[in-house]
Amino acid sequence: MDLRKFLIATAALLCASAASAETYAVQAGRLILDAAKPARGASTVIVDNGRITRIDDGFTAPAGATVVDARASTVLPGLIDAHVHLTGDPGTPFWREAIDPNELAAIVGVKNALLTVQAGFTTVRDLGAPGASSFALRDAIRDGIVPGPRIVASGTALSIVGGHGDVSGFRPEVNTVLDPGGTCTGPDQCAAKVREWAKRGADVIKITSTGGVLSQQGRGLEGHFDPAEIRAITSTAHRLGLKVAAHAHGARGIEDAARAGVDSIDHGTFVDESALQAMKQNRAWMVPTLMAFTGLRDRVGKNVYTQVVEGKARQALAVWGRALAAARRAGVKIAFGTDAGVFEHGRNAEEAELMVRLGGMTPREVLVSATTGAAELLDIAGETGTLDPGKSADLIAVQGDPLADPLALTRVNYVMARGKPIPPKGR
Ligand SMILES: [Zn+2]
Repeated sequence: MDLRKFLIATAALLCASAASAETYAVQAGRLILDAAKPARGASTVIVDNGRITRIDDGFTAPAGATVVDARASTVLPGLIDAHVHLTGDPGTPFWREAIDPNELAAIVGVKNALLTVQAGFTTVRDLGAPGASSFALRDAIRDGIVPGPRIVASGTALSIVGGHGDVSGFRPEVNTVLDPGGTCTGPDQCAAKVREWAKRGADVIKITSTGGVLSQQGRGLEGHFDPAEIRAITSTAHRLGLKVAAHAHGARGIEDAARAGVDSIDHGTFVDESALQAMKQNRAWMVPTLMAFTGLRDRVGKNVYTQVVEGKARQALAVWGRALAAARRAGVKIAFGTDAGVFEHGRNAEEAELMVRLGGMTPREVLVSATTGAAELLDIAGETGTLDPGKSADLIAVQGDPLADPLALTRVNYVMARGKPIPPKGR
């Protein structure tokens, strides 16, 4: 037996024995089963074999159960971040692309997966990682080899040649060598790319439908793909049961992507009325990623970015939060997503307060967006997002009431992911 197989077999044995031997009674002072419904008072969540089996009134403890004392806390469904990049850290110079192997990204991802789940995020959608790094990370977490959130992964983003997902900024021949394998031209090539990434293991297809801020591409932030190319991507992906997430900043690029049937518009920075109507008509979600802008704010004017990035960063920062407020007013569905990786992993929950302050959302709307909302977008509502019996035991305890105070989500004092307690930070 080779080492990898041995490790997987050992981990599987450990998981199986821990799961069958361990029943948990999570005693909650306040319990939110579903973010859209009123909270309950003192209650106990019974967890068996990784699943929620029942909810009791008051504090109970079946014989043999491990009691989790969250009597002074609010217990709620594990949070979902619909837009992260676990395999990257902020502020990494762009030229590292020419040096770092994809295997390093997977190891960086192991570190960030732990920080993310410790922050209360028991599921993430990873939208853009080199090679198979995010697939390896997803599978290692699923198999219990390393702790982390459930991952819905796209692998590498699809992009136009010279677009946000391509490599620019080096000599042409170096750019060519560093080609990440996601570029396509014309509907046929773009459809083929979807099939290729589906074959490699993608759970979702990510496209950079407009220019992006942090790449060295200098063709602005408007639409990059031709509408016919996006239609080829969405119809091919949907036929394979995959959703499409579109990175989009410029209004016309957002509108093109929404009309072509993408499932989410991520960032949505310069959205206007006509683009919002297209999103509404086509039932596209908005994933606001307001925290990404804090990453920009902390770095502009400090010689961190190249000149091409600096200009785009200033443009985007000027309208921070406007897109979310407009989407909410227009009645567009909103799913919680941060773009962690552009800022430090583990700070994901800070998005909630920004959604309230800049986007005009209520704390309850924010919590819905981070639980049932994101679960619906990720097609995992049957598995997580509420604390219903039968669902995966993804739950967290926080200090305070997140239905009144969005900052409560940053005060996580206990995390259970798929029935397993996560070791707290600093231990
Ligand atoms: Zn992103």
